[in-house]
Amino acid sequence: MQHTCSICGTVYDFVWKEGTPLPKNFPFCSERCKAADLAKWLNEEYAISSPLPSLILSDTERELLVELGADLDDDDID
Ligand SMILES: [Zn+2]
Repeated sequence: MQHTCSICGTVYDFVWKEGTPLPKNFPFCSERCKAADLAKWLNEEYAISSPLPSLILSDTERELLVELGADLDDDDID
């Protein structure tokens, strides 16, 4: 089955069998796109509320988010 990444528009093969976990980055093509979507979401949330849930992020996701401009510096929250 094929799926279109909603971040970059890449059409990628999506292999999934019923009863197994979804692919790690679903519905995105890559961890980078997953992080980009998360960054978008976090930036919107951050405008309204409080500390970012950075603890739920993997190190790779944190690095990607910082690279994408998300403010994940926990020490800098008022
Ligand atoms: Zn993508």
